Amino acid sequence: MKNWAANFEYSAARIHRPTSVEQIQEIVRGSRKVRALGSRHSFNDIADTPEDLVSMEHLHQVLAIDREKQTVTVQGGTAYGQLCGELHREGFSLPNLASLPHISVAGACATATHGSGVDNGCLSTAVVSMDVVVADGSLVNFTGRQLDGAAVGLGGLGVVTSLTLKLAPTFELAQDVYEELPFEQATANFEEIVSSAYSVSFFTSWSGQKIDQVWVKRRTPSEPRSEFYGAAAATSARNPLPGFSPANCTDQMGIAGPWHERLPHFRMEFTPGSGEELQAEYLIPFPNAVPALRAIAELADQIAPLLHISEVRTIAADELWMSPFYRQRCIAIHFTWKKNWAAVQRLLPIIEARLAPFQARPHWGKLFMMPPAQFQPLFERLPDFRALLTTHDPEGKFRNPFLDRVLS
Ligand SMILES: Cc1cc2nc3c(=O)[nH]c(=O)nc-3n(C[C@H](O)[C@H](O)[C@H](O)COP(=O)(O)OP(=O)(O)OC[C@H]3O[C@@H](n4cnc5c(N)ncnc54)[C@H](O)[C@@H]3O)c2cc1C
Repeated sequence: MKNWAANFEYSAARIHRPTSVEQIQEIVRGSRKVRALGSRHSFNDIADTPEDLVSMEHLHQVLAIDREKQTVTVQGGTAYGQLCGELHREGFSLPNLASLPHISVAGACATATHGSGVDNGCLSTAVVSMDVVVADGSLVNFTGRQLDGAAVGLGGLGVVTSLTLKLAPTFELAQDVYEELPFEQATANFEEIVSSAYSVSFFTSWSGQKIDQVWVKRRTPSEPRSEFYGAAAATSARNPLPGFSPANCTDQMGIAGPWHERLPHFRMEFTPGSGEELQAEYLIPFPNAVPALRAIAELADQIAPLLHISEVRTIAADELWMSPFYRQRCIAIHFTWKKNWAAVQRLLPIIEARLAPFQARPHWGKLFMMPPAQFQPLFERLPDFRALLTTHDPEGKFRNPFLDRVLS
């Protein structure tokens, strides 16, 4: 079995598809090396294991919406797209979503998956409780401050069988796209621009001294801006990928709609089940945003030929140990690459060396070449995380080569 992008083949000897928590407990008890598998949207070996892979695909029920506590509890294989419509109909929302809704909640939270917005934390910050089958097969609940260590668990703590997420009242957003933002305007007014709406993303191919598109998701009621730092309002709907149809993108042109139909860039019903792309992303403390963007722009000649598109987003600080946003607001510089791993593999170390002075950390679920010695000092709670895993998994059942590298 391969991941969504089909650039990685899982090496597991056995793939299980349990339909109950009891079955998961049985699999974990009987296994020497085991790992949960979400919707397979990661690009690296983070979800792999040599022995027993536990696909969560049959466990995707919304278990309960607690109106009083304003929470929802979902099974460990639920995708955001399976949840959001129901939340909206019940009058609730989640504060943020990733760029497409097909990703599983547990898998997204395990890797600190994020959307954009200076005041929006990564998706893991919504977790208020998690039930996990740990290495001895018992079901352990993590809540309160325990989640600081457990929420971004990199799949190493056990199999998350259910998660409870904090909700907010449902809300509407309108999405406007602006084109050809001059790069100098973008850098001179960076904080003002990214703080100008609920969620702001830059899309750029790094060529021509401009940001190709700025996607602005604003709360309603509000008016679109007639002037946007020298960028022009798009005259029709756009796809972030130059030349691609906007048909599979969420509504733009200022048309108001519910949060879950505006926060993801791509519609639930259209996104393909596999992708002709590779992804890498680096998370950089907000004060280093502008010099980091300038450093990447200097590599435009090397980046542009291999790139579909880059996206720049912002993420609020959190308290989660293995989150790249631990106690610091960050920007994310993302690359959607053409599927040419040989060439991308040569370029990533060049990009990573350029970003090193800005304390760049890799996205756990995407491709990176950075040696652990480069990013480990940037995760000050890594020793605590290692100890947490040892407490619940003394024999390393859930350890895999990815975690061995990260924690080595
Ligand atoms: C097209 C596309 C768009 C993307 N957009 C964004 C984006 O906007 N923002 C962003 O930050 N990232 C984005 N990503 C990356 C993606 O969100 C992460 O890779 C995420 O971890 C994928 O979740 P998944 O369910 O597919 O997990 P998998 O890839 O299946 O697994 C990832 C990790 O989660 C663990 N895991 C999964 N389920 C469980 C469970 N039930 N219990 C315990 N551990 C579990 C696995 O063991 C593994 O360690 C995107 C990826 C793709 C392919």
